[in-house]
Amino acid sequence: MMDLKDVKNFESYDEIAALPGYVDDLPFEESEYQSLLGGYRLSPKLKCCFRRKAGVCHTQHNVGFVIRLVDGSVTVVGNECVRKLASDEQLSLDAEAFKKEQRRKDQLEFVLGRIDGELPELDDISALGHRLSSCRALRKSVFAGLPAIVSRRLEGMGRSLRSDLTASFIVKREYRDENGELQIETERQRSRIYQFVGIRFINDAALRSASNHVSELVGFRKAYDGIKKSTSGRRLTEISKGLSRYKRLISEVEQVEKYRDEFLTNDLRYLALMAPDRDDQLEACQFVGNFFDGYERNPDKMLRELTAEIMNASGAHSMDVAV
Ligand SMILES: [Zn+2]
Repeated sequence: MMDLKDVKNFESYDEIAALPGYVDDLPFEESEYQSLLGGYRLSPKLKCCFRRKAGVCHTQHNVGFVIRLVDGSVTVVGNECVRKLASDEQLSLDAEAFKKEQRRKDQLEFVLGRIDGELPELDDISALGHRLSSCRALRKSVFAGLPAIVSRRLEGMGRSLRSDLTASFIVKREYRDENGELQIETERQRSRIYQFVGIRFINDAALRSASNHVSELVGFRKAYDGIKKSTSGRRLTEISKGLSRYKRLISEVEQVEKYRDEFLTNDLRYLALMAPDRDDQLEACQFVGNFFDGYERNPDKMLRELTAEIMNASGAHSMDVAV
């Protein structure tokens, strides 16, 4: 079986004439055939060198094949003479395989010509998949590391894309009434204590959609490699459209990473305040301190500092946090 990679399409007579062993007008018989070097579609015409009992064919033709003979010399034969050979003759089999491969290559060319941008390699697509997996793994670690109540609330925040953390503050005011008695008035005020950014990283719609697009693109890239001469035009168009989504997928992945980077700029200590009770708050602080760089590692101290900062800023006496 010949290796089709070694068989080429000749673009000019000069290219054929330059082959080692090529002789102009060298007649040959079927029994002298050794291997197929390639095919051509040329104008002006060449003369067919096939010898039959009646003599050398010498038909002028545009379409034919370049062949090597058993003695190492190289000559040409017209398509018509090859077609007239018995279908189990080696030259006939080789020519058929070559034509089939040429039609397959034409199909690939058709798709390449219709792709918006470059043909992505499977490695390029997998690299995008790995970038998404790394985002997904980070997101998973955050949800697994935080206390369940915080994870649930964070998830709800991601779903609703509401990113405000609000708290009710109890503000006490002392004053003297008309009798000069000291009175204390308490007032409840609700206000925002923090606004998370990059909350779309928590809502994994963008991540899921990009991951699906990676799988689809892998499918189209494999379909491209599987294109045969018989693949329908409709399917070829589908494949070229599918492969054209590569550029958009790159931006999708960059967008997910942007959400992630944005999310990581948050003061993540505030996650602790999404838990109603102190144990969960401390657990959240511990996770933030251990998992992310640059935070106080002692959960107790972290919570104390954070609460003090908020109380100082608000001037209130106590607070309840709610998301
Ligand atoms: Zn001929």
